[in-house]
Amino acid sequence: MNKAKASLIALFIGVASSISAQEVTSPKAHFGFDIGDDYMLANYKLMESYFLTVAKESNRVKIQEAGLTEEGRKQYLLIVSSPENLAKVEDYRKISQQLGRAEGLTEEQAKQLSKVGKPIVWIDGGMHSNETVGSHQLIETLYQLTSSQEEEIKNYLDKVVILMWHVNPDGQDLLADWYMQYEDKTKRNMAIPRLYHKYVGHDNNRDFFMFNMKEASNFAKVVYIDWLPQIIYNHHQTSPDGTVVAGPPYRDPFNHVFDPLVVTGIDGVGFSMIDRLHQEGKPGYVRMDQSGFSTWWNGGLRTAPYFHNMIGILTEITGNPTPSEIPLVAERQVPRNGLPFPVAPQAWNFKKSIDYSVSLNLAILDYASRNGDKLLYNFYKAGKNAIDRGNQDYWTNYSKYADQLKKNYDSDLKSGKVKVAENNSFYRSTIIPNSYYEDIYKNPKNRDARAYIISADQDDFGTAIKFVNALSKSGVYAYQATEAFEYGGVQYPKHSIIVKTNQAFRPQVIDMFEAQDHPHDVAYEGGPPIRPYDAAGWTLALQMGLQYDRVFEELNGPFQKLAPGDFIEPPSLTLPKSKFGYQINAKANDAFTLVNKLLKDGYKVFRDLESKDFYVEAKAAAPLKAYASKNALIIKPYPAKPKELKPVQSLKIGLYDQYGGSMPSGWVRWILEQYGYDYELFYPQDVDQNRIAKYDVLLFIGPGIPSTEATRASRMPAKDLVPDSLQYTLGAISVDQSIPVLKNYVEAGGKIITIGSSSELVYHFNLPVENPLMELNKEGKSVKLSNIKYYIPTSILKASLNPNLPENYGLKKEVNIVFNNSPVFKFKETKDLYSLGEITTEQSLLSGWAHGQHYLKGVSIGLVSNLGKGKLIAIGPEATNRAQSHGTFKMLFNQLYQ
Ligand SMILES: [Zn+2]
Repeated sequence: MNKAKASLIALFIGVASSISAQEVTSPKAHFGFDIGDDYMLANYKLMESYFLTVAKESNRVKIQEAGLTEEGRKQYLLIVSSPENLAKVEDYRKISQQLGRAEGLTEEQAKQLSKVGKPIVWIDGGMHSNETVGSHQLIETLYQLTSSQEEEIKNYLDKVVILMWHVNPDGQDLLADWYMQYEDKTKRNMAIPRLYHKYVGHDNNRDFFMFNMKEASNFAKVVYIDWLPQIIYNHHQTSPDGTVVAGPPYRDPFNHVFDPLVVTGIDGVGFSMIDRLHQEGKPGYVRMDQSGFSTWWNGGLRTAPYFHNMIGILTEITGNPTPSEIPLVAERQVPRNGLPFPVAPQAWNFKKSIDYSVSLNLAILDYASRNGDKLLYNFYKAGKNAIDRGNQDYWTNYSKYADQLKKNYDSDLKSGKVKVAENNSFYRSTIIPNSYYEDIYKNPKNRDARAYIISADQDDFGTAIKFVNALSKSGVYAYQATEAFEYGGVQYPKHSIIVKTNQAFRPQVIDMFEAQDHPHDVAYEGGPPIRPYDAAGWTLALQMGLQYDRVFEELNGPFQKLAPGDFIEPPSLTLPKSKFGYQINAKANDAFTLVNKLLKDGYKVFRDLESKDFYVEAKAAAPLKAYASKNALIIKPYPAKPKELKPVQSLKIGLYDQYGGSMPSGWVRWILEQYGYDYELFYPQDVDQNRIAKYDVLLFIGPGIPSTEATRASRMPAKDLVPDSLQYTLGAISVDQSIPVLKNYVEAGGKIITIGSSSELVYHFNLPVENPLMELNKEGKSVKLSNIKYYIPTSILKASLNPNLPENYGLKKEVNIVFNNSPVFKFKETKDLYSLGEITTEQSLLSGWAHGQHYLKGVSIGLVSNLGKGKLIAIGPEATNRAQSHGTFKMLFNQLYQ
């Protein structure tokens, strides 16, 4: 091409773009610096105004308000595409929705819609506030998509509808304002004084099937109800040492309930991402076994979409506004499938990470622009597969079945029932006769359920409704019985709820009701277990203590179908007049909310020691009625005044927290507020300086009490980096100084409740208790069982309780506990000491993975120790797990009254 021609073309392009281009304010003009400049962070206030400005200036963006955060900031949905697409974007949204729900479409129609539709791609940022690349790449990407005149970008905009979202606005204001408060750049740091999500900090990414937090609910509405995107890209950091970014595909195990198209969909998108970086000469991408992220767990913003047939993508990138470096790690210099293009050790700055992130976003848009019809059709196909599976007998390939196959075959070999089949194949696999397959994979006993019935006639129907409403937020639809019906010889009352599995989001339904069967995942036969990415088992129905029945055939009846996103309203309650007062069912968690309200309003409330329910005086009829209309509580008039009543009184509650914030404590903060308990936070210095006497009860949830084998010093920022007004939150509970104060507090009449790892307090108090999970090592020293023998990452186990103990009132005899290598106890003597419950079998696992579970037979899961005038109540399992384990909330609630 000669020079003149080239400049003519350039001129032509220049003219064309000056006509069509709208001026979009650059980040530099808006924020005062370029995104990626060293030591510079934008807060959410400025980012929000940038979103609004760009949306006003660019015809490539529509902006919609999408709900408030926990601290009251606005979340927005930015819809980015070509102006032509935006004009018809409602059509594209509906096509995506229709294909995703996969109902009432013929194969032909689905193919046709896949052709005329546009793939919907979600790109977010800012979920974890100290992972600052995520929030800032969102700004830069938005700017490039709305301002660029390059053909490449215009092509993406023509072919794809992009949804952009800031996941955690509150945290970005907190973090960025904290970082930027220091004039001296070298002082800029991210050691923020509290959690970057009001209640749950980093656990804001553990809430995506329960949707306790407002941000998760806002997300669910957009993703599972309104838009149903095919690709969800969720940005995080950081990558393993010696690499730049970890991304898809991910390592095993993947979950056995979702469609194989999800797994191959991740491969497709993943290929496009790594391929683009390599093309651009950007090294250091790790994937598969080199990155550690699996696809087993449900509940993260990226992983929950798998259970909705969506391709969830996570990257974890390195980089910070404060310049850093890629360190040298010898084995990361060897190319391999998990890391084809090693990166040399080097100085690293923010801008490089922003550039990588923008490339990764564009790689996904490139993939979607080339494969739009395939993405849409596969999305439909996975949904259709799910519906079909729910309409017939179907067997999920759980790993327990493969184990059973081997076991059956081995035992028949031993007994001589079969002979070893000859196998001359190259692979030398153990080949088992086909009949063994039929015995297990076609065994009617092993079929998946086609429906679940949640009877309205259960102890805590209010909690069951909360469960179904969580499913509904997640795009699952349910039915409600408009009159009583009978099935399988059981009578179900009106208002009972039915969830069928013949729906597109069937994997989500199965996953919420059924046990997770985590494979025995070890480094090598007999070797140490590989830690799961998050929980191994989480079955929400089990955590919430739901009663439900499975149905293995088509179920019809007087059922009203609810739309996804519709909430179940509790049945209305008629409350007859009473002379003798009212009985409030204390098996229901919401009874505690009501009791707290009644106490605050000055009514007298008692425990009826016979029924263990609450008793409230007759004059409380009006508030009872008002409350019961919003909750499925069973409230009955007493026919006569109950014989044995014990007054119920509120306690002054102190909840432990620490500088930087404790997540388990934060979840409990939220639970206490939901159920109407008042509380105050206290910090280690409050203990050391004996400012705790004003509390009737102290709560230590999860971290707080140091381990008896304390090896890790708690990390606190240098004092001069923390403003005076926050100095009181610094420090940690110490064995020398704090523990004696806590012991005096109890002996003087105080009550301490510990849940989870803080239950180590029993050893600091020298109670006659020991850890039963010990063995003698070679030197004859007693040590904790090695993880080769015993390892239980977050899973659900079965425990037995004595419901006659006041601490256990309203709980069932058998409860499902969330167990995460949790403390358990054995008593050396029982003077002034009693157990709250035990694990009574060698096989207590209900959901997840429990290697060596037989060691737990006979252990105590919690105890009460009367010490002086007070008591210590130590509960080993995660009784308040992420505000999901409603089935054991009463293990805490019962202790919060006088
Ligand atoms: Zn993160």
